[in-house]
Amino acid sequence: MGQKQEEDSGGGEYLFKIVLIGDSAVGKSNLLSRFACNEFDSNSKATIGVEFQTQVVEIDGKEVKAQIWDTAGQERFRAVTSAYYRGAVGALIVYDITRRSSFESVKRWLDELTIHCDTTVARMLVGNKCDLENIRDVSKEEGKTLAEEEGLFFMETSALDSTNVEAAFEVVIRQIYNNVSRKVL
Ligand code: GDP
Ligand code: MG
Repeated sequence: MGQKQEEDSGGGEYLFKIVLIGDSAVGKSNLLSRFACNEFDSNSKATIGVEFQTQVVEIDGKEVKAQIWDTAGQERFRAVTSAYYRGAVGALIVYDITRRSSFESVKRWLDELTIHCDTTVARMLVGNKCDLENIRDVSKEEGKTLAEEEGLFFMETSALDSTNVEAAFEVVIRQIYNNVSRKVL
């Protein structure tokens, strides 16, 4: 679970590791840069470099640090390492609403998550690229239904126009926070 760091921070500070998973090119890196830096990059440079970005959120007057991990292109080779998942307390499973195959991969990503993380991990299904309504290939209802079946939160997002990006991350962070505070009490 999320670590409560009391020794070195001098206050009730939380650090949560959250992982982004999903097929290549669904928009994981852009969701992260939109959330953490308010940036969008239309050239899909192969996501080399940053492993994670940290974003501070306030919940109930407490400072919560979300350390959000990006796959750095590992998923291209179906080789996301167990180190990537280690210690994760939240996950956003992303598909592209204009590419059905990425939606069909969601179950495989959920299986991977189950192998590597414990069952309390907060999970959000994200249908990204909802700005591309005209070439939609997966209906919102299908996303919702899958999420209900699997017990996931669900949102459609657009990293391009910012729709629901903050909301998706914040729901996950809030859920993790609730899990942790239940444990502490
Ligand atoms: P990743 O491989 O999952 O990290 O995907 P990227 O973030 O690299 O995005 C893949 C491609 O999709 C890039 O060309 C992005 O510009 C584009 N993209 C990402 N998010 C969106 C979005 O919300 N809307 C649209 N229209 N394009 C997006
Ligand atoms: Mg990427």
